[in-house]
Amino acid sequence: MSTASHRKAPPEDAVREVATEVVLIPRPPTAPVGGGLKARTQFATILLSVESEGGLVGESYLSLESIAQARGLAAIMAEACQAVVGVDAFARARSCRAVVGELHDLLPGSGAVQMLVSLVDLALWDLCGKITGMPVWRLAGGEGREVPCYASHGLFSGETDDQLEVSAHRLVEAGFKGVKLRIGRRPLADDVARARRVRDAVGPEASIMVDGLWSMSSSEAISFARAVEDLKIAWLEDPVAEGNVAELRRVRDNVAVPIASAERISSVAEFRRLLDADVLDVAILDVHHIGGPTGWLLCAALANERGISVAGHSAPSYSAQLVSAAENGLVVEYFPWWDELQGGAMTPDRGLFTMAGQPGWGMPLDKAAIDAYRERLEETVGVKR
Ligand SMILES: [Mg+2]
Repeated sequence: MSTASHRKAPPEDAVREVATEVVLIPRPPTAPVGGGLKARTQFATILLSVESEGGLVGESYLSLESIAQARGLAAIMAEACQAVVGVDAFARARSCRAVVGELHDLLPGSGAVQMLVSLVDLALWDLCGKITGMPVWRLAGGEGREVPCYASHGLFSGETDDQLEVSAHRLVEAGFKGVKLRIGRRPLADDVARARRVRDAVGPEASIMVDGLWSMSSSEAISFARAVEDLKIAWLEDPVAEGNVAELRRVRDNVAVPIASAERISSVAEFRRLLDADVLDVAILDVHHIGGPTGWLLCAALANERGISVAGHSAPSYSAQLVSAAENGLVVEYFPWWDELQGGAMTPDRGLFTMAGQPGWGMPLDKAAIDAYRERLEETVGVKR
C-alpha cells in the first residue's frame, strides 16, 4: 500500500474541488404507485461535481425520496469528499477508500456509506472520461454494443386492471420491447390474471419482467410462477423477503422461470454470498448501491464467472453504459424521470440505448433543469438556500 514508488500523475489531473448540492425533481403523475413498498413521489437528488486542476468537471447524481435524508447525506458528502482533493482523478480506488476513511464512524461497508462512495466513483469515472476524451462504456472495456431496456414506468400495483392494460399498450406503442409488472400486493389469483392481461396487451414477443417486491412466501411465489408458466415471463424478481436466501433458493429450485435479485446489495462481499448460495439467474446490479461503476463492473465479472447475466437497476443512463461494457450485460431498467436532468442525452429510442462517443457519461447535467429543480426544492422546504 506504499505510495512511495507511484509514478507522479500529471498535476492537471488532480482533483481541485468537490461540490455537492441537493435539488428536487418532481415525479410526473404518469401512473399511481401502490403496494407496500414506499411509493416514490419525488426525487430529492444529490448532485456531485468533481473538478480537476485542469478545469474539467466530472458529475454524478443520486436520488432519494426524502429531502431531509438527501440534505443530510449531501452535507456528510461535502465534508468527506475533501479527502479526495489533491488525489489523481484516475486513482479511484484510493479516492473511494479515502471517503470511506472519513466516514469511519458511520460503520462503512454497506448502506448509506456505499451510496456516497458510489456517487464519488460515478463522478470520477465521468472526470476520467473527460480527461481522456473517452466515453465510460469504452473506458470500462466495452465496444459500444447497443443495449435494450425495458419500461419500468407503469404496471404498478396501484393501477386498476383497466389502467394496467392501458399502461401496457402505452409502453409497447412507445417502442419498448419489455415491461415490468409489479405483483405480490393482491390475491394470487388476481396477480395471475393481471399477468395474463399484460401478456395479451403487449403481445407474444415482448418481455415481461415480474417484480414481487419481496412480498411473497416461497409457496406463493412457486404457485404464481407455475400458474403463469405458459406466459414465458422473462424473470421473477425478488419474490420473497429481502435477505431470505433459503426461501429464494426454494423458489428457484421449484420453478422454471429465471430468478432475478440483488438490486439492494451494497457490497461485493454480500454479492459473492448470493452467488455462492446459487439463487440467481440474473443479477440486477444498482450502480448507486454497489460502489459505483467500479463495484458494478467487479460484481458483473464475478457473475460472469458463474454464467449469470447482469441487468441494470434504475439509473438507466449509467446502467446502459455498464451493461454495454459487461460481457454478460443483458438489459437496463428504464424510467424517464432523469431524462430532463441529463438534457435528453442517453435517452433510449424505441427501447434501445445506443452508445455515443461523448466523453464520460456523455450527458452534462442540464443547467436550466437544475435551476428549476433548485427552485422546486426552495418552494418545498420554504427557504432560500
Ligand atoms: Mg426490483
